[in-house]
Amino acid sequence: MTNKTMMQYFEWYLPANGLHWRRTQAQAKALGEAGITMAWLPPAYKGAAGDQSVGYDVYDMYDLGEFEQKGAVATKYGTREEYLAAISALKACGIEVLADVVLNHRMGADGTETVGAILQQSNDRNRDISGVQQIAAWTKFDFAARAGKYSDFCWNSSHFSGTDWDDAGKRGGIFRFEGKTWNRETDTENGNYDYLMGADLDTDNAEVIEETRRWGEWYLDTTGVDGFRLDAVKHIGFDFYRNWMEKMCAHRGRDLFMVGEYWSKEVARLTHYLDVTKRRLSLFDVPLHFHFYQAATSNGNYDMARLFADTLTGIDPTHAVTFVDNHDTQPGQALVSFIPAWFKPLAYAVILLRDAGIPCVFYGDYYGIPHDNVAPVTGLLTLLKIRKNYAYGAEQMYFDHSSVVGFTRAGDEEHENSGVVVLMTDSAAGTKKMCAGPRLAGRAMVEVLHGGSNIMTLDGAGAGEFTVAGGSVSVWVAKEAAADLYLMQ
Ligand code: CA
Repeated sequence: MTNKTMMQYFEWYLPANGLHWRRTQAQAKALGEAGITMAWLPPAYKGAAGDQSVGYDVYDMYDLGEFEQKGAVATKYGTREEYLAAISALKACGIEVLADVVLNHRMGADGTETVGAILQQSNDRNRDISGVQQIAAWTKFDFAARAGKYSDFCWNSSHFSGTDWDDAGKRGGIFRFEGKTWNRETDTENGNYDYLMGADLDTDNAEVIEETRRWGEWYLDTTGVDGFRLDAVKHIGFDFYRNWMEKMCAHRGRDLFMVGEYWSKEVARLTHYLDVTKRRLSLFDVPLHFHFYQAATSNGNYDMARLFADTLTGIDPTHAVTFVDNHDTQPGQALVSFIPAWFKPLAYAVILLRDAGIPCVFYGDYYGIPHDNVAPVTGLLTLLKIRKNYAYGAEQMYFDHSSVVGFTRAGDEEHENSGVVVLMTDSAAGTKKMCAGPRLAGRAMVEVLHGGSNIMTLDGAGAGEFTVAGGSVSVWVAKEAAADLYLMQ
């Protein structure tokens, strides 16, 4: 068994040159060699901003870069053929593919409709602040250029619950459509957080339920993806995805890997969502991301012993997808909370080398973000290769100090020279006695992130006194493994 390792294969500011699918295809082999086993690709369907769209302003989910819509045939990332070729290339290299699914809203409608609507108080969407008013809502989607290919479904106001723009009065606001209610159970921020943006899908509507099932089945059949990354799940009635996921797995005839984006620092909200959806999916460990952010921005005063307290990794590791940053937390984006460079190697050592959770490596950390002069994370490729080859076996945690914390992996029989020792500090340099277990007794362990001169020979029990420099992480592997790592570089 190889460790599962996900990569988010895009960042927000990829150049809009239509070349991303071809790059994905070209890089597939290198990614497989680096230990990536699952690639989360960006939304592949036409957005309202055409070939400039990152993909979350969903316009037509059947247009994967095939129809002249929104000013272009291709999407920001390329054409349908290039997308399908990229998926094939990844799968040929042993990498499963996750499609990004945005079912909360639609944008860029082809026309407006006159709809009765009630203004809602923006910070309490359970509160009406007007009577019924006639507004011009962008809710009419005809997809004329696609002309019914793949699906003749057209969207109209009956399929949506609300919007944030009245085109007749040229005014914004949260408008709930007459006769509609917000989804019964969503996140309770702003009273009821069903509404996020655009024309909000009424996921209680029978036609919407049927159409999103048909689309999902078409998508599975067309692309052959292995699973889904589900966008904005806290803004969609919690029973919707529970049913949709069941239908997708039934259609494919097997379990599909799915991970949901529930953006909340409160782990209880995440575990509640897992409860409601019967743990059919995993969730990104958003609380852990914020622990990283706090640790990285507290001038060495963060209590590292609490890094996993109240995180999904700490509470339900088998349903946690761990990550350091993503396209929403990078500089310039809505949820910006980008982990400072000095802490990134610490965070990646934690998510890549521990047993708990499935780690997701961010494209912008792997390749850098030229748009913001962000460099690739130092040592990330080395950490990935250690994960792939050596981070196996029982885990021993030493999160017992406010600054200097670490863990060991004992290694296993299946992976030659496996076993890892990790020590880090958010503050001053420190030492810690840690035990890697009897498999590594008497072995020389070489620190591989800082040049290879820090060597520790373990005692007869597999223990040693390890040292780490201030504000850094050190990672030791067996000397024979270190030699292999150098050969792999
Ligand atoms: Ca919604």
